[in-house]
Amino acid sequence: MNIQNILNINNLHVNIDNSDIIKGLNLKINAGEIHAIMGKNGSGKSTLAKVIAGHPNYQITQGEINLKGENITKDEADIRAHKGIFLGFQYPIEIPGVNNIDFLRLSYNSIQKANSQNELDPLSFFDLINKKIKNINMDANFLSRNVNEGFSGGEKKKNEILQMSLLSSTLYILDEIDSGLDVDALRDIAHNINELQNNSKGLLLITHYQRLLDYVKPDYIHIMDKGRIIYTGNANIASQIEKYGYNSIL
Ligand code: ADP
Ligand code: MG
Repeated sequence: MNIQNILNINNLHVNIDNSDIIKGLNLKINAGEIHAIMGKNGSGKSTLAKVIAGHPNYQITQGEINLKGENITKDEADIRAHKGIFLGFQYPIEIPGVNNIDFLRLSYNSIQKANSQNELDPLSFFDLINKKIKNINMDANFLSRNVNEGFSGGEKKKNEILQMSLLSSTLYILDEIDSGLDVDALRDIAHNINELQNNSKGLLLITHYQRLLDYVKPDYIHIMDKGRIIYTGNANIASQIEKYGYNSIL
């Protein structure tokens, strides 16, 4: 059987404002796999997520990022999104003056268009998004509000998952999607993540806590420290970290 590679990062070095944040990182994710990255605050997890998604502020000084065998290191963020990278942010931004449903439809249509697929008019889109929003147990009034404006932490995270469920991506990266969630919201989110992940996609979860990994079972857990992956293990190491801390692994 030929296993398809989704993400392949080789010897990645990343610099911001003249300081090196990622220092020689390697990561391979194959289709159907779920990977988790854990690690202390400041170890570079969010930087890695943003760099994979193409955030313009970070400078890649060495190494490369490949998506399905294609080198995307120099692609802009929107091109990477068109090619199938989705990033759910640790701190989703508020966009005052922009209606959530318009934002979702524009995102959806821009990816459809880039892939020569049908774009949806507002009415057809409304049908689609209504199903998705029910699936994540969000009230429909979040569609008519401004993007994330005044949303609670948990509501912002659900809105990220709503976007994720809409944009059928190849690689999903979720940065601390579980932080600030009550247990019901965590279950809703985990249920949606499990439904979206399948054999043709890769999933990268960044988290501090085992509790998300009780619901979404990773194949591999990587420990990141000072800009590198210093340990890779299976799902069992999450409980060891929870009990004894990172130093028990390091
Ligand atoms: P994590 O998500 O693992 O907590 P981050 O990737 O957010 O870590 O941050 C890694 C390191 O990079 C931290 O020491 C942080 O202060 C630093 N860093 C991130 N963004 C910037 C920036 N814009 N300027 C300077 N340092 C930054
Ligand atoms: Mg972070």
